[in-house]
Amino acid sequence: PLVLGIETSCDETGFGIVRGTELLANAVASSMEEHVRFGGVIPEIAARAHLEEFIPTLQQALDTAGVTLEEIDAIAVTSGPGLAGALMVGVAGAKALALAANKPLFGINHLVAHVGVGVLDGVAESGTGPAAVVLGDGASGGDPHILPAPPLPENLGALLVSGGHTEILQVNRLTTDVTLLGSTIDDAAGEAYDKVARLLGAGYPGGPVIDRLAQQGDPKAFRFPRGLSAPKFVGSAEDPGKHRHNWSFSGLKTAVARCVEQFEAAGVPEDQIPTADIAASFQEAVADVITAKAVRACTEHGITHLLLGGGVAANSRLRSLLAERCDAAGIGLTVPPVRLCTDNGAMVAALGAQLVADGVKPSGLDFAADPGQPVESISLVA
Ligand code: ATP
Ligand code: MG
Ligand code: FE
Repeated sequence: PLVLGIETSCDETGFGIVRGTELLANAVASSMEEHVRFGGVIPEIAARAHLEEFIPTLQQALDTAGVTLEEIDAIAVTSGPGLAGALMVGVAGAKALALAANKPLFGINHLVAHVGVGVLDGVAESGTGPAAVVLGDGASGGDPHILPAPPLPENLGALLVSGGHTEILQVNRLTTDVTLLGSTIDDAAGEAYDKVARLLGAGYPGGPVIDRLAQQGDPKAFRFPRGLSAPKFVGSAEDPGKHRHNWSFSGLKTAVARCVEQFEAAGVPEDQIPTADIAASFQEAVADVITAKAVRACTEHGITHLLLGGGVAANSRLRSLLAERCDAAGIGLTVPPVRLCTDNGAMVAALGAQLVADGVKPSGLDFAADPGQPVESISLVA
């Protein structure tokens, strides 16, 4: 099926078009620049930007794919989770298109859509089994990746790390059966990067700047906390603690703030605070705790292949440590190109096409955006 996917859950307005598993277009407009001076995404600004970019980005996707709206078989739109106002623009726009062009409409889950990119070919290369990821500077958009050809690998898990999410999912079947194994209980990983960058005065978005700064620093200079790693949270395989597979990054952020404060209190001039060492040590703590917990969750839940998604997938240390630890644990790893890891419409279209192919009933026009849509809700039922 020829499917149009629409994504507006955060600060990217994304329109993607797929034909089955073939990617035809992936047009993305981001309002990131407008959030720079605030050091984080401002929901109202994001929602307004979606409104402005909706039609131009749609047109760009149709032009790139060389198709018309009339030729589209179905439309899929992110209904949640995400920012309420931002989601509402996408959902309202999608309903208008579906109504005007008389197309079936699916309201789908943003997190599961991130996994949906795994079915796309074109970007796919063979490379299954415990594969080493081709490493490179993801931040530069160099797109080092290995993707197994569709269908998705068996016993699949997904690790999603972005500005709004840090989650590990078990994907029993993409269109019908996905469960949440663990998530952050406070800040998302990308949010921690953004906050730490702000307190180091390094700029926004924090991920790429900290990643770059960390290259010049010593990751062992400071020992920052790995949240929820104490035995009382983790427990054992037989008697798991409540937070065995969960993350927490707020304590880490506070520890970095205290570290900077101590230098300031000691009268160290601002330009002599070892920000590169702090950045490298922070990055090491993030990569260490994300990968350790993800690999443990996989091992204990029979997951033998992991797909990485979200903007933090661009992080150099996360990539290298995850590849190393997955390899050691016999877990295959898929790291899609960065433009398909960050929020985009192609992933929404990809999941939509799978829903159509699997005969899942469309959501109709009578659904609302759900900012807290749980991962088990893959597409909204009519
Ligand atoms: P959502 O959470 O809804 O998926 P988002 O807009 O918050 O959306 P993305 O657009 O996927 O998330 O990613 C943006 C985040 O990725 C930012 O927090 C940014 O700091 C982070 N990021 C980007 N590059 C890197 C990097 N090299 N290292 C670490 N974090 C990075
Ligand atoms: Mg974004
Ligand atoms: Fe996302």
